Amino acid sequence: MKIKFLGTSAGWPLPRLGCKCELCSSSNSKDKRLRSSVLVNDSVLIDAGPDTYQKLRPIDPTLIKHVILTHYHADHTLGIWDLGHIYGETGKTKPTLYGTETTFSKISSPLDRQDLVEKTVKFEESLTLDTVEFSNFEVTHTKGTIAVVIKEASKKFIYIPDFKSIPENNLKYLANTDLLVIDGSSLYKKDETGGHESIETGLKLALDSGAKQVGFTHLGHKSGLHAKLETYVKTSGGEGFFIPYDSLEVTL
Ligand SMILES: [Zn+2]
Ligand SMILES: [Zn+2]
Repeated sequence: MKIKFLGTSAGWPLPRLGCKCELCSSSNSKDKRLRSSVLVNDSVLIDAGPDTYQKLRPIDPTLIKHVILTHYHADHTLGIWDLGHIYGETGKTKPTLYGTETTFSKISSPLDRQDLVEKTVKFEESLTLDTVEFSNFEVTHTKGTIAVVIKEASKKFIYIPDFKSIPENNLKYLANTDLLVIDGSSLYKKDETGGHESIETGLKLALDSGAKQVGFTHLGHKSGLHAKLETYVKTSGGEGFFIPYDSLEVTL
């Protein structure tokens, strides 16, 4: 399974406009982040935020057949309008959008969905998308938010860019995960906002899960420099822990 991180920022990109802090002044390209989204096997896009059009330029967007939405927030859905235009120009079949009932009800207006086919998924429903199996489970963020589970052959990838916690009953879904990618909106628990966990909190969750590799995405202004975070998670979690950056590719 090939996983490409198209974007890794929280709701607002890094650097922040007009900010001169250490993070926003960094010359390291790994500190320049656009809104979070990943592409699996070049054909399954997870989330379509406002940077989608720009992020799809270097790849062949006509290969994308499936677009999974984790939830309805603007930083995960504002690029849907552009997807419609990309496929309209190529004349190929437009991709199918997958999301929960709440997600679709919240983005119905004023966002124009460009005639993309919609498939409503229920919590814990499982679907086959070409070579991969897509399932999900509910997490605590905004109503209707899912963790995306992708399996191919013996490999399992779980992607949860936005969540505050995982309901006790759903922790079982984290078992036997090869790559777990979770919310890293801030570094320390003291900086956590209402809907997001921190890297500090996520480290414990990830260690308890036993996942082989663990990445933190949806990085915010209170997360920090890539180099410092990379050292922090490797020291606290182990060699399998890392901080993804825009355009990073991981193969399972
Ligand atoms: Zn978000
Ligand atoms: Zn959100």
